Amino acid sequence: MAKKSKIVGKIKIIHDRDGCIGCGACAVLCEKYWRMADDGKADLIGGKKAGKHYERIVEKMECNQEAADGCPVAVIHIKKA
Ligand code: SF4
Repeated sequence: MAKKSKIVGKIKIIHDRDGCIGCGACAVLCEKYWRMADDGKADLIGGKKAGKHYERIVEKMECNQEAADGCPVAVIHIKKA
């Protein structure tokens, strides 16, 4: 069973896109938030560029914990917003 996040309140999803190897796991595990782009890397849907990474603030974790846990190179990070 997927571990439950202890974060209360809004959540910031951070994608270090440069490190993405394009495995596609996040897009399978969490298609509401993740999709594969034409360059072979994942996009965080609705994500905004913030320095070297992309981020999006959401109200609920939904499937993003599964995406983060399933990323083989750990470039999806989840923090309290
Ligand atoms: S799971 Fe990680 S490495 Fe795989 S496509 Fe998604 S962000 Fe990229």
